[in-house]
Amino acid sequence: MKLNKWSIKWQLFSYLAVFIGFLLIILWLFQVVFLESFYKTIKLNEIRESGTRIAKNIDSQNLELLLENVSETKEMCIMITDETGHIVYSIDTLPNCTIHRMTSNEYLHFIKKALSNDGTDLQYINYNIVDDIRPQIKYYTKQLPKLIRKELESVIYTQIIQKKDGSIYVLFLNATISPVKATVQTIRTQLFYVTLIMLFLAFLLALFISKKISKPIIKMNTSAKQLATGNYDSSFEGKGYKEIAELSQSLNYAATELSKTDTFRRELIANVSHDLRTPLTLIAGYAEVMRDLPGENTPENTQVIIDEAHRLTQLVNDMLDLSQLQADTQDLHLTKFNLTSTTKKILARYTRLCEQEGYTTHFLYDQEVWVSADELKLSQVLYNLINNAINYTGEDKGITVRQTTTTSKVKIKVIDTGIGIAQENLPYIWDRYYKIGTSHKRASIGTGLGLSIVRSILERHGAHYGVNSTPHTGSEFWFELPLESKPN
Ligand code: ADP
Repeated sequence: MKLNKWSIKWQLFSYLAVFIGFLLIILWLFQVVFLESFYKTIKLNEIRESGTRIAKNIDSQNLELLLENVSETKEMCIMITDETGHIVYSIDTLPNCTIHRMTSNEYLHFIKKALSNDGTDLQYINYNIVDDIRPQIKYYTKQLPKLIRKELESVIYTQIIQKKDGSIYVLFLNATISPVKATVQTIRTQLFYVTLIMLFLAFLLALFISKKISKPIIKMNTSAKQLATGNYDSSFEGKGYKEIAELSQSLNYAATELSKTDTFRRELIANVSHDLRTPLTLIAGYAEVMRDLPGENTPENTQVIIDEAHRLTQLVNDMLDLSQLQADTQDLHLTKFNLTSTTKKILARYTRLCEQEGYTTHFLYDQEVWVSADELKLSQVLYNLINNAINYTGEDKGITVRQTTTTSKVKIKVIDTGIGIAQENLPYIWDRYYKIGTSHKRASIGTGLGLSIVRSILERHGAHYGVNSTPHTGSEFWFELPLESKPN
């Protein structure tokens, strides 16, 4: 068998690699592609929040502290003027701060804009930082310019604030909102290394997990190979996880079953050879005696040879029947037939035996019934049950077959008044080669296969069957079949 499947290791690695790849793509998208827009949005929110905070605390004594704090943590330039344009507070931290370098025209422009917009205003500025000491303001827009490539982007936030005493202050905030190019570059390089490290870790993880998963499987495989070579003692250990534990349990079960089958096979061969040997020894013995001693050439001795040969034939036939039945090779030929008359015919065949040896048979039935079954096989069941009844019946030598019917079923009972079967032996009598002792006069005649043939046939018909028996009183073997309507 060609095994071209991937090992667990590579399969796991590929899954992990795909997963990590997916994560990295998301990371790349957020860190590289969307970084700018995220950064800008966050910055703009910060500026607005800072403006509101400063406006709220405009009368506070700690205003100066707050301004310093805002400027430092949020990286902003701050300027507050009074209504005449005089600077009241100023923190100039950014290298290219715009608000500290405004012309008076620009100053007025921002105030006007704020006044026309509920007292606040936000303007984007785009300028070239290398050009000039005072950044050259190229334009002011409400919207972020999209198509123009810029060196640096910043915003100016203006807010008109009224103090408690009624005087007016104007707050200007200025912050850069485009991320520093170097930062983006750093993140890209970092991501490249992160990708490499993650792939390497994925490989290690795959190696580790696959080892952990495959170890018990490999162990089990070794045991399975041993089992295949006939070592039924090999046991399967499945520690680690549930599925493996379950698998090992099933394999252990299979191993014990196999070993049972093996024991059974050995027993079978022993039984069969024993059963074959007895008649063969008798045949050979009698034949030799008849050859060597002229006086022994009697019809009685010849009869022994013939009887033993018949017994051999019977044994071989039984064994063949049983093995075929159990291998399910024989199909059931279901036909609708009159079970009552079939039973009658079978019993009639025992007439001679009855005449010769004094047996009496009775057939009791309430009505003629039809069933759908394999007539030949069912006859075999009846033969076996009647044979057993004859073999094991009591002194009165009476055998009764009783047929009873309900609305849907017919029950056939084969009853004898013999030695019966002890309760503890009942479960085993249906097994192959099971014989209860050999003390009974006719027990040694049996092959031990009869009832297992009966069981196989009845089970294949899906019929209910059983036995009621009381030691020294008698046995009653029965089976049940569904009734069929009488054919027209
Ligand atoms: P055998 O060929 O020995 O009769 P069976 O399979 O037919 O084999 O029966 C198995 C065992 O069940 C017999 O050996 C016998 O001990 C017991 N048995 C079967 N039928 C009867 C019966 N009618 N009465 C008492 N014992 C029986």
